[in-house]
Amino acid sequence: MTAKIIDGKAIAADIRAEVAKGAVALREKGIVPGLATVLVGDDPASHKYVSMKRKNCAEVGIESFHNELPATATQDEVLELVRRLGADDRVHGILVQLPLPKHINEEAVLNAVPLKKDVDGFHPLNIGALAMKGRAGDFIPCTPNGVIELLKRSGTEMSGASAVVLGRSNIVGMPVALLLVDNNATVTICHSRTKNTPELLRSADIIVAAIGRARFVKGEWIKPGATVIDVGTNVIDDATRKSGKRLVGDVDFDAAVEVAGAITPVPGGVGPMTIAMLLQNTLRSAAR
Ligand code: NAP
Repeated sequence: MTAKIIDGKAIAADIRAEVAKGAVALREKGIVPGLATVLVGDDPASHKYVSMKRKNCAEVGIESFHNELPATATQDEVLELVRRLGADDRVHGILVQLPLPKHINEEAVLNAVPLKKDVDGFHPLNIGALAMKGRAGDFIPCTPNGVIELLKRSGTEMSGASAVVLGRSNIVGMPVALLLVDNNATVTICHSRTKNTPELLRSADIIVAAIGRARFVKGEWIKPGATVIDVGTNVIDDATRKSGKRLVGDVDFDAAVEVAGAITPVPGGVGPMTIAMLLQNTLRSAAR
């Protein structure tokens, strides 16, 4: 069997087109959706991510307000900026690019983002709401929401399915697991202390891998026909590439594609979904 490839680029493009349509409708009512980006320090990867997010905003008709502070900024300065953006009516969403410099308390900064503008969905109350039946938070975190959207739009049945999530981080593994439960899957979470991960994976109809270990999940651990969503992004050496490097996921794709029913590639799977869901959250916030 060769698995169907779940094309995250194409699905993300569909979502961006939906957001663009929604933004036109809001602008006709005199509302311009706005996203504020906060970048502290000079990490090149963070600069690249923020500029990609701003470019995507421009393409779908969301205005972006960029705010940059030096790496030497104090905790109070960052908090002051976030609070000012929280009070700015043109801003419907605030994105604080992580990681923040080490001397800044990330938790305190994320807590300062008003719930109604937490388009990243990282506020503890928005994450916590995922664990409560019938209690929708204001926003669902973007990467986990992207995983669920990939499952839905690839026609994967979640209700009654047995799902295994690899990883239990606050930003990916745990919220994905809670969202799968909300979609009526029966969920097992594996982490670094789990003793029988291969055995648990073999019974899964859905696997979501989010551990940050290159090609950890082997083809023989996958149940024939299962849907595999690979969140992992790992850079490995590859002498055949000009850069000498290559991006791979947490799943051994070449082996898994022969066994799974559907699978996301890395790159081109979950990655493009994260920004698409951020745009969707910002539009929803503006519509409210
Ligand atoms: P993280 O905070 O480092 O968490 C990793 C998780 O994996 C932890 O829960 C850890 O368990 C678990 N783990 C580690 N080794 C394991 C093993 N051998 N078996 C089972 N579980 C194991 O990482 P993260 O932020 O969740 O990110 C995970 C991956 O997703 C990374 O590759 C990251 O780059 C990628 N990512 C991609 C996107 C995207 O947009 N595509 C977005 C976010 C993250 P313990 O809790 O026991 O330590």
